[in-house]
Amino acid sequence: MRKTCFLFAALLLPSSLLHAGWHESQGEAMGTSIRMEFYLPDTGAQESQQAQQLINGVMQEMHRIDAAFSPYKQDSELSRLNQQAPQGWVSVSNEMYLLLERSAAISRMTQGAFDVTYASVGRFYDYRKRVAPDDDTIDAAVQAIDYRHVELRRTDQGGEVRFAHPRVYVDLGGIAKGYAVDRAASWLAEQGVSQSSVSAGGDSRITGDRRGEPWTVGVKHPRVEGQMSAVLPLENTAVSTSGDYERFFEADGQRFHHILDPSTGRSADGAWSVTVLGPEAMFTDALSTSVFVLGPERGLALIDQFPGVDAIIINAQGKLLFSSDLAELQPPSP
Ligand code: ADP
Ligand code: MG
Repeated sequence: MRKTCFLFAALLLPSSLLHAGWHESQGEAMGTSIRMEFYLPDTGAQESQQAQQLINGVMQEMHRIDAAFSPYKQDSELSRLNQQAPQGWVSVSNEMYLLLERSAAISRMTQGAFDVTYASVGRFYDYRKRVAPDDDTIDAAVQAIDYRHVELRRTDQGGEVRFAHPRVYVDLGGIAKGYAVDRAASWLAEQGVSQSSVSAGGDSRITGDRRGEPWTVGVKHPRVEGQMSAVLPLENTAVSTSGDYERFFEADGQRFHHILDPSTGRSADGAWSVTVLGPEAMFTDALSTSVFVLGPERGLALIDQFPGVDAIIINAQGKLLFSSDLAELQPPSP
């Protein structure tokens, strides 16, 4: 009897009291939903004020990154680069230099599957308006896709960038959200937060645990809305998912989606979804896109080269595949 009463009382309590110290917020930035949840030790009356400051700080950082790296904002640093770098050296912020340098390194390790110049063709797709470029447009623009066209040089002031081909167009959409959640998580840690989860769309960074238990991150079923294909218990990690169901349209029996194979300028079709786990979201973000392009076989071989990095792939037949370290944890199939 006593137990039922207790349960009943618990149901009536507001969830903020049940989970004292835990704070949640959801917003919009970078064209996607931003979610965060974190714990603050009980500081009495100041707690909710401090929580609000932390939420504002995270959102501010997301908007700052969006303002610099959005290709859709005419006054972003990226738009300026795309306009000027075909003509010659352009000086850029340290942050732009760092993102381009990291992107180039990932291009080299993925043999060009990850390539920020994919947008030389990618800019001609509009998934919301169901627009895909015709073959002639693709054939002409695909020449400009090559990460080696983006030349970088260090200077005393910072760095400079130039495009070695007149039609190069760069988009950092495959790495910027991961970078943003890394930045937000580090900033929260600097503010003394030791348990947090921050996500931007399909990229999450997790610090510590959640109320003494692992955090759980779901891998969405790529074909059944609202259903999960896997649920991962996680602590202190980054996790990113790339799927062909996020931004797409179908025409002539074909699926046009937002992850392009740089060698063809057309949507990659080796998988339905790729989830990558690792220490840093900037890396898991770029790798999930890369593995999607490489396809399951080459993608898993790449992942197995990095200790501490794992992947879960749902292949183009809907089958779950795991990188070696995760496969060892799976029960043998019947
Ligand atoms: P999101 O989190 O945006 O759903 P992903 O992490 O799956 O996406 O990355 C897809 C995004 O990466 C695309 O929207 C595009 O901006 C960019 N992109 C697409 N193809 C490539 C590629 N081959 N290399 C680098 N970036 C890419
Ligand atoms: Mg990605």
